[in-house]
Amino acid sequence: MSEEGYELNYVKEAFQTNWISPLGPNVDEFEKAFAIKIGTKSAVALSSGTASIHMALKAAGVGRGDIVFCSSLTFSATANPIIYQNAIPVFIDSDLETWNMCPYALEKAFQKYPNVKAVLVVHLYGLSANLDRIMEICDKYKVPLIEDAAESLGTLYKGKHTGTFGDYGIFSFNGNKIITTSGGGMLVSNNEERIKKVKFWSTQSKDPARFYQHSELGFNYRMSNVVAGIGRGQLKVLDQRIQKKKSIFEFYTHELSGLDGIEFMPINEWNEPNYWLSCITLNDRVKPLDLIEALESNNIEARHVWKPMHMQPFYKNYDYVGSDISKQLFEKGICLPSDTKMTHEDLGRVVDTIKRLWYQV
Ligand SMILES: *Cc1c(COP(=O)(O)O)cnc(C)c1O
Repeated sequence: MSEEGYELNYVKEAFQTNWISPLGPNVDEFEKAFAIKIGTKSAVALSSGTASIHMALKAAGVGRGDIVFCSSLTFSATANPIIYQNAIPVFIDSDLETWNMCPYALEKAFQKYPNVKAVLVVHLYGLSANLDRIMEICDKYKVPLIEDAAESLGTLYKGKHTGTFGDYGIFSFNGNKIITTSGGGMLVSNNEERIKKVKFWSTQSKDPARFYQHSELGFNYRMSNVVAGIGRGQLKVLDQRIQKKKSIFEFYTHELSGLDGIEFMPINEWNEPNYWLSCITLNDRVKPLDLIEALESNNIEARHVWKPMHMQPFYKNYDYVGSDISKQLFEKGICLPSDTKMTHEDLGRVVDTIKRLWYQV
């Protein structure tokens, strides 16, 4: 069946059985299939990855005034829910081996803030963080670990899915992610009790009473049954997508690694990425903006690597532990066009434009 075929069937089913409501069989089935696919005990489908991070923090007991260690090099959606919970982020630098949270900086942060409440680690661009080291540190200090795997669905760390190592893992199905439901998220955990609690909070915290009674603050964060139908279909094509993403990355490395001063994102031996985006860093000769503009003039969109949170105006008053690795990655990094719908010709135009610019300067 074509990619769209699966989704349309499930969505049609939702219409035919009058389940155009929040919840319903597609939601249950999507959660079950997702949990089996990545190897976790329980999952709750929510309205976004951001909502999933918010619920993970709440489930981990993060509240007003608590400190949360958070990867600095990430999208703002990772950090914002810390503020929703009136907690205090402390941003942690990256390392060059993973582009993700640096274990040395994390250890240093623990020495400075031993009363930290949770660690929120990101697996950027489908690359896995150094989970053995990070988990070792979290275990030592007995602090819960939350994995933001919004960009790394399908990425394996030593053969096991990212998002299943920490106490909580979150995923996103936003429009630009490796699989999408137009918008949505998933929170997973082996702690079934906590996932049950999140189901309660995310459907307005309705007490089991004959009338509307609420003993706790509620949220309207559940995924709808129609959206979950799209998710069930998309999950079936995840492996195909990863294969395609990988072939895009391999095409770029084959064509571009000969160019002096271009470095590709790190693929470690323990890291089996989903290759969500193909990212590179440039040396000082060519600036990311020059390359982005050269591609733009050929109608090709490329983007900067995320600007670290500790450099964001909104977060400038929060502490940061590390050196300037995340800043360097931001200043030198580019995400190349990596859409699975790109043709061989499209990819050829990208590398031709880059090569032309490279030999010009
Ligand atoms: C996309 C993304 C999110 C947020 O997911 P949404 O579903 O868009 O709310 C969180 N963290 C990272 C790293 C992301 O890339």
